[in-house]
Amino acid sequence: MVSNQQEFCARRLAAVLGCLVVALLSPGMAKSQTGPVFFEGARLIVGDGSAPINNGAMVVRDGRIAAIGRKGSIQAPAGAARVDLTDKTVMPTLVNVHVHIGYEGYTSWSAQNYTPQNVLDHLEREAFYGVGATQTVGSSPTDASIRFVQDQEAGRFPSASRFFFMPGMAPPNGGPDAILIKGTSALQAVYEISTPEQARAAVQSMATKKLKSVKIWVDDRRGTYPKMPPEVYNAIIDEAHKHQMMVNAHATTLADQKAVVRAGIDVLVHIVANEKLDDEYLALLREKKPYWTPVMGLGDRSDVCDDDPFFTQTLPPRTVSEIREKECSQPAATVAAREKFIANNFPKMIDAGVRLVLGTDAGITPRYSFGWAEHHEIARYVQLGLTPSQAVVAATQRPAELLGIRDLGTLAVGKSADFIVLDASPLDDIRNTRQIAGVYLHGKKLDRDALLAEWKKLGN
Ligand SMILES: [Zn+2]
Repeated sequence: MVSNQQEFCARRLAAVLGCLVVALLSPGMAKSQTGPVFFEGARLIVGDGSAPINNGAMVVRDGRIAAIGRKGSIQAPAGAARVDLTDKTVMPTLVNVHVHIGYEGYTSWSAQNYTPQNVLDHLEREAFYGVGATQTVGSSPTDASIRFVQDQEAGRFPSASRFFFMPGMAPPNGGPDAILIKGTSALQAVYEISTPEQARAAVQSMATKKLKSVKIWVDDRRGTYPKMPPEVYNAIIDEAHKHQMMVNAHATTLADQKAVVRAGIDVLVHIVANEKLDDEYLALLREKKPYWTPVMGLGDRSDVCDDDPFFTQTLPPRTVSEIREKECSQPAATVAAREKFIANNFPKMIDAGVRLVLGTDAGITPRYSFGWAEHHEIARYVQLGLTPSQAVVAATQRPAELLGIRDLGTLAVGKSADFIVLDASPLDDIRNTRQIAGVYLHGKKLDRDALLAEWKKLGN
């Protein structure tokens, strides 16, 4: 028998009050599950690019995958609960390496919104859409983030995506864009540095806190912001690598991307969308093979413009109407020019051997927001030439590898049982990642209806 809190409540009306109290204390909290569970009949997408296991079976015990294979090749343990997933597809939860958590309030955007509660809310939105791990990059205050990670590792926030963060570094009054900088400067979330010596000292202080990564911005925002000079980012990269830390670099122009890749950054953020890549850059990429998150969707037409509840269900109706009024008509010539460069540059980056990883840049504006932006971004990869299987790897195994998460990213024995149950296979049509029938974290089914009910209350 699959025991879960809601069914229990429904069957035993006498106990309904007690159940309601639990539900109110923990909306969306994963449903309780004891003993092994045997999931059977689904098509299993492992996440490593291998052929799917049709008519598969999976044993989950203590939140981990204990066995996986073709149905018939593995046995249900004695006393296991059975979950029939015939006609469903199961894939690993997604891993997003680039968002900006904490500031979005949907009807407001500010540093005042940055509370542990709001961080949790954003991570629950990520989980709701099947994202098992989420990394906020360069915009979250360091000490508060360390505390959040510790709380989550202690077992709090079971309905949230696993939280990862890294500090940012920029010249004084430089770095984040015009929106984000209002939040990061109020919270002093970015380490402001002017000299190589300051840069090395800042990286050393991060290393003593056991941080694994740092973000830099190399951009003058068309002459309006100070750009980090090479002697400073060279010092950051050198010092970070001495401490086995990785450097993520924001760079949007061909010249800046060349500069940071040549300097040895580990993760490149953004796609060049205003000129064609040249052979010099492609040779450099072939040599360095950085991880790359293009975060294209933020510049695309918002999915909120189309009448698809998959995207709008988690947004307040007022926010949806505002987006539709303001954001849905972009000049066709601008769109076409940008698209021409993206269509040219994306496949060239991939052919040059960069290691594509899922990132969205969500958190700057509700027009491209937590959890659903991932599904837009993945579909873009396929539209620009990847196979669905390659897109899945870029959204699961490879970002988990980048973040050093050993127990997420694929469906395999010993991994955390974090997976998405889909009504149709994304290998047939990548947009089927949106056909979410259920999300499991640590082997427990997320109560997506309860989360949605909370968001509906907040928005109205
Ligand atoms: Zn960003």
